[in-house]
Amino acid sequence: MKVFEKAPAKINLSLDVLHKRQDGYHEVEMIMTMVDLADRLEMRELPRDTIIISSQVGYIPVDEKNLAFQAARLIKEKYDVRKGVYIHLDKKIPVAAGLAGGSSDAAATLRGLNRLWGLGLTVRELMELGEKLGSDVPFCVRGGTALATGRGEKLQPLPSPPQGWVILAKPPINVSTADIYGRLRADQIDRHPSIPDMIRALREGDFAGICSSLGNVLEDVTLQVYPEVLRLKQCMQKLGADGVLMSGSGPTVFGLVAKQAKALKIYNGLRGFCNEVYAVRLLT
Ligand code: ATP
Repeated sequence: MKVFEKAPAKINLSLDVLHKRQDGYHEVEMIMTMVDLADRLEMRELPRDTIIISSQVGYIPVDEKNLAFQAARLIKEKYDVRKGVYIHLDKKIPVAAGLAGGSSDAAATLRGLNRLWGLGLTVRELMELGEKLGSDVPFCVRGGTALATGRGEKLQPLPSPPQGWVILAKPPINVSTADIYGRLRADQIDRHPSIPDMIRALREGDFAGICSSLGNVLEDVTLQVYPEVLRLKQCMQKLGADGVLMSGSGPTVFGLVAKQAKALKIYNGLRGFCNEVYAVRLLT
């Protein structure tokens, strides 16, 4: 028996930080949506009671540090499943890029093992399990578009954006999410994105309104430390993207474009400038 699951990448249309909490986490307000760039997971039953992870890329861990491994162990222990599983991760989402690749793999593992082992868990139960693995995992379990509050784990579904294209470009640098949050002075943020404006644009299917409401308070922090991210942003703006923003803590920059022809023009223009560039659709 085997099952397949797709694990799409997420982008933040809005990312706001309200304050730092007593427990050390930041209180956030984020609007997240999925894009059609996905890892593919194959999950196969094993005769031995063990979890084995493999991937075609050599630069991610395949032991208990892998979020898919942690997801498999969690669901196995919680529901006392005495069976083994082999999980192959066909990685397509750039790693440590601000696109929640690991979280989406964890979410896909929970969905896949629920089917493989016939556990009959609801999406809500899978989301509750996901919360134990990371703040972005509940969103990745459910997918779609949502407003995330708290640490990012409290979700309110929103309408998905209208059809459109996303150009994703990742400069060849590694950015640590913890480092960027560590540098952020939550009480000194001078430009907060307007979450109500983004929600209104999504509700009205207003692509131009979505583009003009994009905002991420982590962007200024990352741009200061890594000027190449700023250059990439400027390049995407010059090539004519309708809206441009850094995703999560970076370093991936995404451009939203309504028309396919323009998306291809930007994609081609960026390829000479940056190795990792993708032109994909927004998941509607
Ligand atoms: P986020 O946006 O949630 O901060 P990210 O997109 O920036 O995540 P990931 O691609 O999830 O970052 O990878 C972050 C780190 O997690 C990597 O350095 C990698 O070693 C580790 N990791 C664990 N499991 C996975 C996985 N399944 N895929 C990719 N990286 C993983």
